[in-house]
Amino acid sequence: VTFQFEDTRPQIGDQEVLMDLRRVASELGRSTLTQTLYRERGRFSTTLVKKRFKSWNRALTLSGLGVDSGRRDIPDEELFDNLRRAWISLGRQPRQREMAPPFSEFGRSAYVRRFGSWLAAMRAFVASQGDANEMPPRESATAPKSRDPSLRMRFVVMQRDQFKCVACGRSPATHAGIALHLDHIIPFSKGGPTNFENLRTLCASCNLGKGDLL
Ligand SMILES: [Zn+2]
Repeated sequence: VTFQFEDTRPQIGDQEVLMDLRRVASELGRSTLTQTLYRERGRFSTTLVKKRFKSWNRALTLSGLGVDSGRRDIPDEELFDNLRRAWISLGRQPRQREMAPPFSEFGRSAYVRRFGSWLAAMRAFVASQGDANEMPPRESATAPKSRDPSLRMRFVVMQRDQFKCVACGRSPATHAGIALHLDHIIPFSKGGPTNFENLRTLCASCNLGKGDLL
């Protein structure tokens, strides 16, 4: 008979284990966890975690943590897009420790691997933006007209509006739970273009109150 260590304990719920993985990652300010790191602070044995979820990486995925695949082929633009999304959710420049779920798909280490340091990654990102204030991105004349602005367009419009709702002034940076949307000043349904001049930043509640009325 094989001795099953966890069978002798009170039943531990899956959620309890996943929550503990998230707790340790958050205490360490990491977007992912190695087994070695978890052993130092975790409540459960890594053997239990692996048995319960079939593998360490599967447990990480189920807990919402990133799997450090050591992926080195992430294109710069994908790293920058991920940064734009995190920046928009936070309403300001992300901090290194915030490069983790739910804000970020890639951890800080992906940026450091590519650019040498977090600061160098930030410099490369700013350089890639170009001079957005002088040359707002134009949707291509040949592309079909779309209501949804590109991520790049969303970012530069929100940057112009300082990541704040232009109606009420709230920002995710200063008010928890605020989500920023882009709004067509002349509604798209009335022929308003999806461009730098016709878009503005509104919080979700100001945007919902508006509809298509001018
Ligand atoms: Zn608002």
